[in-house]
Amino acid sequence: MQQICKGIFMVTCAGGISVLKPPVNIYIIPGKNGMIFDAGYGDRRSVDFLLKEISKIRAYCKKHCTGTDLSQIMVSHSHPDHFSGLYELKKKLGLSVLLTSDMSKLITSKKEYRKSYVETLNSGEYRSQKHRLINIFKPVADVLYEKNYGTRFLKRADVIIEADSYININNKLWRVFHCPGHCDDHICLYNQETGVLFAGDNVLRSITTWIGPPRSSLTKYLSSLLYMKKLPGLKIILTAHGSPVLNPKQRIKQILKWRALRTLQVYTVIKHSKQKSLSLDDIVKKIYEGQGWIKYKMAEGWIQLTLEHLEFKGRIARDRSKNKAVCYYCN
Ligand SMILES: [Zn+2]
Repeated sequence: MQQICKGIFMVTCAGGISVLKPPVNIYIIPGKNGMIFDAGYGDRRSVDFLLKEISKIRAYCKKHCTGTDLSQIMVSHSHPDHFSGLYELKKKLGLSVLLTSDMSKLITSKKEYRKSYVETLNSGEYRSQKHRLINIFKPVADVLYEKNYGTRFLKRADVIIEADSYININNKLWRVFHCPGHCDDHICLYNQETGVLFAGDNVLRSITTWIGPPRSSLTKYLSSLLYMKKLPGLKIILTAHGSPVLNPKQRIKQILKWRALRTLQVYTVIKHSKQKSLSLDDIVKKIYEGQGWIKYKMAEGWIQLTLEHLEFKGRIARDRSKNKAVCYYCN
C-alpha cells in the first residue's frame, strides 16, 4: 500500500496470470466516516491480502493520530474486477454498501447480472449470425469467469445513491457523477477542493480502456471524457488499474485523439472499399489483416462501437437487410 494523496491510500491486488485478470487498485480513505472505493476480486487470496493491507493502513493512521474508521464502500461500476470482493469486505469490516440503483440491480442478482451481458439482436446488429451463436456457450463462460474472479453477489445495497449526487467522506464533500462509456453504470467520484478524481476504468495512465458491447458506448465514452476534462480544479486522476495520472487534462486529450484516429481508420476502410457494403468481419480483417483469429476477436468490440458511433454521427448507414455497415458519404 502507499499513501497516494493526503489521507488516500492505494492498495494494488495482484490479478492472475492471464490478461483477463489484471492487477486492480482499491482506494482506502480512513477517517471519521471512512470510505473504500472499489472492492476488487472476491477470491480468498485477494480478500485476505486486502484485509491485511487495510490493517497496516489503520495502524499507520493510528500512529499518526488520524482517523481509522472505515464505515462505507462504493464501487466505480459493476464489472467483476471491481465489485466481486464487496460481499466479503462488507462481512469482515461491517461496511455500509452504497450503490446506484443501476448497479444495485446487477450486483444483487446473479440472474440480472448474467442477463446484462447477453448480446441482444439490437446490440449485435453489425454482427453476423455466427457471432450470436457465441451466446450458446455463455452459461459455461459465466461460471468460469465468476470462479476466476471470486464473484459474490449481495442480498441488497445498504444505501441507494443517486448517480449524480454528493456524499460525505470524513467531512469532505465528494461529488458522484454518472460517467458511462466503458460501462453503462460507471460513476466517478470528485473532490473539487483537492482536485482528486476517482475515474475507475474510464481513464488509465498507460493503456487504452477496453470498450465493447453490450454495455459500452463510444458516443457516451467521448462525452464522459469531455466532461472529466472540464472538471474545475482537476489535478490528479486515481485509476482502477495502474499508477495515477498526474497530467489529467493532457492524458484525456491523448485518449480523445486516439479514439478520433481509430474512428477515422474505420471510416476510411468503409469509404475506400471497392465493395458496396462491408460486414463487421470484413472491417476487422481489413484493419488487422493477417494478425489472426485472437486479434480479430479482441478487436471486434471497439470496431462495432465505432460503427455505432459513426452511424450516430450520420457518417455511415446500415444496410439492415444484409446486416452490414454501409458507407454513407462516398464522395
Ligand atoms: Zn471495467
